[in-house]
Amino acid sequence: MRITVLAGGIGGARFLRGLLAELAVRLPDENASSGTSAEVTVIGNTGDDLWIYGLRVCPDLDTVMYTLGDGISAERGWGREDETFRLKDELIAYGAQPQWFGLGDLDMATHILRTQALNSGYTLTSITQRLCERWQPGVTLIPMSDDRVETHVLVDDPDTGTRSAIHFQEWWVRHHAALPAHEFVQVGVETAQPAPGVLDALRNADVVLLPPSNPVVSVGTILGVPGIRQALRTTPAPVVGVSPIVGGAPVRGMADACLSAIGVETSAVAVARHYGPRRNREGGDGGGLLDGWLVDDVDAAGTAALSESGIATIARPLLMTDMAATQAIAAAALDLAETVRR
Ligand code: GDP
Ligand code: CA
Repeated sequence: MRITVLAGGIGGARFLRGLLAELAVRLPDENASSGTSAEVTVIGNTGDDLWIYGLRVCPDLDTVMYTLGDGISAERGWGREDETFRLKDELIAYGAQPQWFGLGDLDMATHILRTQALNSGYTLTSITQRLCERWQPGVTLIPMSDDRVETHVLVDDPDTGTRSAIHFQEWWVRHHAALPAHEFVQVGVETAQPAPGVLDALRNADVVLLPPSNPVVSVGTILGVPGIRQALRTTPAPVVGVSPIVGGAPVRGMADACLSAIGVETSAVAVARHYGPRRNREGGDGGGLLDGWLVDDVDAAGTAALSESGIATIARPLLMTDMAATQAIAAAALDLAETVRR
């Protein structure tokens, strides 16, 4: 059983933890570090990556790696458990910029090693593999691309009023997505190649899952890499997604600000329509990406219309409050994939 997942940071990572727990029950393998004989490949978003103090930081890849490797700060959802920020404080004492991005001391080791390897000519794919040898996340984690693709946000500069592009992290972390976004630009995406293994993981999958990751700046960014959307459209595997929007709001974070910037309503139904059906109800080309979609019970009213449009939709509790709840969401996604398999 090969399962391929397109993941951002926190939402993706938490879902993956539940998925591995469920697979360890359905397809157990005591000898595998993942606990399951299923092979899970995670295609990670690298559009959030940035250079900071001369270090290459990959927030979404690291959140997945640390979460599945039991090294994540449970409270923050990013960075390492039990780390201090003394190094960053020291840099700030020198007046180093930027000061708004949190980088803990233990986390910094990852970025130092990654940067050193990048400077020696290694690809992000091979560096990620090397880092995962330590963390044993139980999945094959690959970046969407080895090429630099960075999400920038077009905003009106709060000081001058002129329209300018800022890095996604500056918009998200420094401004808390409160500056109205006019557009998201994936700098470098036109010439980016999918990383080795990305397209094969989609083509050869038995199931493709979209976890409750940000539809615009996590999943949307991955889909922008040439070839990935098409691979999702044409894979023989069923494609099933989990809504990150519950009751008309993101469960965590500011995905609503991202959705409004691209003209999509913040609702579980609107996000599904944005992805679109792979097949319409008559079995013809639906032009989109989804065979199945999970919405929360509070959004159950929208399931019939979506199913009519060709996206088999069911309602389940979708809050990843603890491991049992998260595992149940993964189980529902796997079951729905079997229902819609052609
Ligand atoms: P990021 O890169 O850290 O922002 O993480 P992702 O893109 O992977 O996921 C962010 C999305 O996860 C947000 O839009 C949240 O609404 C969603 N999310 C977080 N917790 C939950 C949850 O418990 N249930 C559901 N359905 N979505 C969640
Ligand atoms: Ca992210």
